[in-house]
Amino acid sequence: MSVRDMYREVILAHAQDPLHSGKLPDATDCVHRENTSCGDAIDLCAIVKDGVLVDLRYESAGCAISTASASMMTDALIGMTKADAAAMLASFRAFLIEHSELDPKLEELDALEGVRQFPARIKCALLAWQALEEILKKT
Ligand code: ZN
Repeated sequence: MSVRDMYREVILAHAQDPLHSGKLPDATDCVHRENTSCGDAIDLCAIVKDGVLVDLRYESAGCAISTASASMMTDALIGMTKADAAAMLASFRAFLIEHSELDPKLEELDALEGVRQFPARIKCALLAWQALEEILKKT
């Protein structure tokens, strides 16, 4: 199995059985974002307490890349401080757009490396993260 196929497996596994999806009844903040170029939509909700992302959940509709990115993002970020989450956002964005090294804490998101060649797909991969950015600004 090539590395590229392995990455595809990771993306499909997350898209088919996304982690941390569903409603978050005690959410302190929720954000809705859409990527009209692909038809992806996400509602991301968070419980933020004392500057920590205590929990994150989302309901998403769209392509495998947008769902897989949301699944891996929430799995990596739950329990982090807002400051650390903001640093992860910067790292992931730079990884996609500037092809820089990904922070080791986001290692699984490395599976989205192939997306970097396709600007339209980068929007899919960033959708959940843009919703996160709104939450980090608000709370
Ligand atoms: Zn998409």
